[in-house]
Amino acid sequence: MPHTRCAKIVATLGPATSAEGTVEALVKAGASVFRMNFSHGTHADHERNLNTVRRIEAKMDRPIAVLADLQGPKLRVGQFVGGGTRITPGQTFHLDMMAELGDSRRVCLPHPEIFQALEAGTDLLIDDGKLRLRVESVTEDRAVTRVVTGGQISDNKGLNVPKAMLPISALTPKDRKDLDFALDLGVDWVALSFVQRPEDVAEIRKLVGGRAGVISKLEKPSALESLDQIIELSDGVMVARGDLGVEIPPERVPGVQKRIIRACRAYGKPVVVATQMLESMIKSPTPTRAEASDVATAIYDGADAVMLSAETSVGDYPVAAVDIMNRIIRQVEKDESYRDIIDAGRHEPENSAADAICAAARQVAETLSAALIVSFTSSGSTALRAARERPPVPILCLTPKPDVARRTALVWGVKATVTGDLQGFSDMVDKAVRYAADTSLAQPGQRLVIIAGVPFGRPGTTNNLRIAWVE
Ligand code: PGA
Ligand code: MN
Repeated sequence: MPHTRCAKIVATLGPATSAEGTVEALVKAGASVFRMNFSHGTHADHERNLNTVRRIEAKMDRPIAVLADLQGPKLRVGQFVGGGTRITPGQTFHLDMMAELGDSRRVCLPHPEIFQALEAGTDLLIDDGKLRLRVESVTEDRAVTRVVTGGQISDNKGLNVPKAMLPISALTPKDRKDLDFALDLGVDWVALSFVQRPEDVAEIRKLVGGRAGVISKLEKPSALESLDQIIELSDGVMVARGDLGVEIPPERVPGVQKRIIRACRAYGKPVVVATQMLESMIKSPTPTRAEASDVATAIYDGADAVMLSAETSVGDYPVAAVDIMNRIIRQVEKDESYRDIIDAGRHEPENSAADAICAAARQVAETLSAALIVSFTSSGSTALRAARERPPVPILCLTPKPDVARRTALVWGVKATVTGDLQGFSDMVDKAVRYAADTSLAQPGQRLVIIAGVPFGRPGTTNNLRIAWVE
């Protein structure tokens, strides 16, 4: 069988991967989703990358998703005389609103709203958590802090305020411009950074208006407090371990990752595990054993996708990174313990016709050792509910809508293709059989389990299950 991998690979585009030949090599190595990181690059860069991906998609005739990742309210300190300075534990250090360049006693923090959220005892983390300051007193434009962990501090380093619920929207004015731009380009998914509360997701949903799927990046402890509501409002979720591991202690990240994946599997929403998965491959052609194990863990947990960031955007070995990720996923998915672990993490079907049919389809596919589950879907929702079952065979998604096919490139086990309109149930069965045979996804003599809603084209009507033979 040509297609035997269920979990998907997201590769971030950047200077290392903007050439058309490189994007093609990434697809051949196994990437099916490309992330455009709006924290870097110009709109012209992103537009060029999107066009490149669409050309490769047409050339290779398989749906590829593009994900626009919005920067969100990433806080940064200002700049310093000479670019940086050292601060030592025990000394005081001021953050204020003054425009002058910083020195070893102060620096500008150009985010006036943040001062309101600080109080004596609040910890501030700078540069991915390398430096820690504790607030001693605060006014509306100045915080006096004591340095707890010192070191080098330099221009524009990121600042995290882990404990506080910040009085800011997850969409900055820059994000709004980037979002408009990305939607005009026709991206398939948009990701919202630093989601703190369900309202943040509701706000972007309204702006997106169904033109793309909305992914909430979970990287704030406050988001974990309303995890269920956030997942319910989102079309997908990202475990954004970079900032998450600054905002909560690193030893808590693995447990939180498992909790988020479990919750997403319960809701049937795609979940992406991101950041530092093959970090050493930014500079090295092979991963560490610990990194291989980290990718494998996400796959055993049943994540829909694993993501590469700097490994592909600026790394020296972008294609090798996708290739090794592909190999790790394939190895895990054929490991003898994988099926048991995945089955143990399955959630009961919900009380709906679609879930009843999808659960039955999985069961029939298991009992008959069928080659495929085939789902006809115009909204993509049946494919998502079928994926929620984590069946032992791929889910072939036939849809009349190219955007639906592209979105499913992120979803566990789904292989989508765009079909024309259907003339009824038997036409549907014929198309499914022909497609499975043409693509060698099923061999003559094998069976397909076909699920669909009749009448076609009306979402939420999944009510048919048919077993068909490939001749
Ligand atoms: P970022 O998000 O790379 O946009 O910060 C991912 C993360 O924080 O892990
Ligand atoms: Mn982040």
